[in-house]
Order: sequence, then structure tokens, then C-alpha cells
Amino acid sequence: MTIIDGKQLSETIKLEIAQEVAAIKAAGGKIPHLAAVLVGENPASQAYVGSKVRSCEQVGFQSTLVKRDASISEQELLSIVDELNQDPSVDGFIVQLPLPGHIDENKVILAIDPRKDVDGFHPVNFGRMAQGMPSFVSATPYGILQMLERYNIPTDGKHCVVVGRSNIVGTPISILLSRKAKVGNCTVTLTHSRTKDLPAETRRADILIAAIGIPEFVKGDWVKEGVVVIDVGINRIEDPASKKGYRLVGDVDFEQVAPKSSYITPVPGGVGLMTVTSLLMNTLKAAKKEIYP
Ligand code: NDP
Repeated sequence: MTIIDGKQLSETIKLEIAQEVAAIKAAGGKIPHLAAVLVGENPASQAYVGSKVRSCEQVGFQSTLVKRDASISEQELLSIVDELNQDPSVDGFIVQLPLPGHIDENKVILAIDPRKDVDGFHPVNFGRMAQGMPSFVSATPYGILQMLERYNIPTDGKHCVVVGRSNIVGTPISILLSRKAKVGNCTVTLTHSRTKDLPAETRRADILIAAIGIPEFVKGDWVKEGVVVIDVGINRIEDPASKKGYRLVGDVDFEQVAPKSSYITPVPGGVGLMTVTSLLMNTLKAAKKEIYP
């Protein structure tokens, strides 16, 4: 059994990006610039944005944090999006979700210029991705592709079972892995809460991707020997033994599933770290105008 080390892999990729940024700088080029919009005081959102900004600094990007109170109106937020769309110094930007209830998230996503949509949430990028055209692939699915590619895990002809059909993880990764592509050519089954006999489906998986949001949901007898497991879940469970009073676990029962796996991602230290790194990869692509020349 091999642990897919998201920490090590993301450090490797960040080093590659830093080298490219240094070369751009040495040649007198423009340093990639990522902006992040954070609305309100949600602690998880603050932590995610903080880690994105720190990662930018680590690789030598320019970063801008636009922070606004939760009381901001939808119109004011749309104006900020418009300013970032127009600002030639900004290569890409994200609006951290979730947004306060009085703001229509879809409206905000639709307002982002697809050429700067490094989160890959705009339907133009999603559609281009689905049709195999150059696109910004959203960060978590992009991170999963990187893990499979860089660990040389064969996907061609494999049966991949995805549990969870969200717009940001389950649905895009199921499309990506079924595409005719280097990391792709899987036969994909996309499952969700209405799936009948889920364990029977997951037992057929050569590659299992769990993006559900229920702690340690996938059990040892739900998988076959040799399965490749990508655990996207990040869940807090109470742990009086820990200083914080909680610890993070995935959607997969690691103790039970790891011994049967050929490869498995840990939580923490797996997909989560790759998500931030993928955002940096997208920002570099935006700065180099690779997707939209
Ligand atoms: P969503 O809540 O948007 O989607 C969850 C999906 O799981 C839904 O499709 C839902 O089905 C399905 N589901 C729920 N219960 C069951 C069940 N009993 N059986 C089968 N399917 C079920 O979640 P996300 O995709 O946003 O996130 C999933 C997990 O991944 C979370 O733990 C989240 O924190 C984590 N995450 C981690 C990231 C990372 O960087 N590592 C990034 C994004 C998310 P239905 O559609 O029928 O309701």
C-alpha cells in the first residue's frame, strides 16, 4: 500500500512554480498576480484564503486580499468583481464561497470573467472542460488529476466510482476521468444519496473517489483488494485527546480501507493541500495566457 503524499507532491509542484516565477522575473516579465475576495468572518473561509495567500507568497506570486464585511450588498460585491475583471495587473481571482445568504452565488460566479476564473467555477470553463477544450479546471479535481498522473497510476480502461455529485468535486472529476485524455479513459460510475446499494457499486471500483462530507463513511468491506482511494472529505470529529478538541478525518474509514488499497490519500495531508497548489497552477496558466491566448 502506498500513501499518496499530498504534502510532498504540493511542495514539489510549488517548487516548480517558484522556479518558473523566478525565470519570468529574471527575464523582466510580469509576476503572476492572484486576488482573493473574502466576505464575512467564516473561520473556515478565513483559513482557506489565508493559506492561499501564504502559498502565493511562497512561490513568489503577487497576491491581493480584498476583505469585506458580511453586510456588503450583492451590487457592491458585483462591482468589486467588475473592477478585478478590468484590472490588467490581476491575472486571476477567486471569490471565496460560501457567501452570505442575501447574495446570489451564481450571479457572482457568472460575473467573473472566464479568463480570470482560476477557480474554474464559471459555466464557460466548466463547459470547455466537459468538451475537452482548454479550460481552468476547478482546483480539487485538478489536484486529483495531478495525484494520479504524478504517482503514475494507470487510469486507462479502469472502473472509477465517484461518490458525491457536487459541482465542485464529484461531477467535474467524473467528467474528467471519462474523457479521452492522458489521465482519463476510465469507465465512470457517479453515485449519490439516491444510489441503491452503494457498497455494491463501490466494491466494483478500481479507483474510488469519495466526496461526500460524512466522516469515515466508506468502510473496509465496501472496497475490493488493490483499490486506489482518493479521499476528498475533510470532516471534523470530536477528539478530547487533541489540544483543539477535534481532529480531521476523511470520508473514508482509513484504518479499515488502507490495508486493502494499493494507493490511498490520507486526511489531512492528501487532496486538501493539492487544492491550493492547483489554484497556483491555474494562476500561472492565467498569467501566461495559456488557456485564453
Ligand atoms: P456536497 O455537500 O456539495 O456534496 C455531497 C455529495 O455527497 C452529494 O452529491 C450527496 O448526494 C452525496 N451524499 C450525501 N450523503 C450521501 C450518502 N449517504 N450516500 C451517497 N452519497 C451521499 O459536498 P462537496 O463535494 O462540496 O464536499 C464533499 C466533501 O469534500 C466535504 O467533506 C468537503 O469538506 C470536502 N471538500 C474537500 C476539498 C478539498 O480540498 N480536499 C474541496 C471541496 C470539498 P446528493 O447530491 O444526492 O445530495
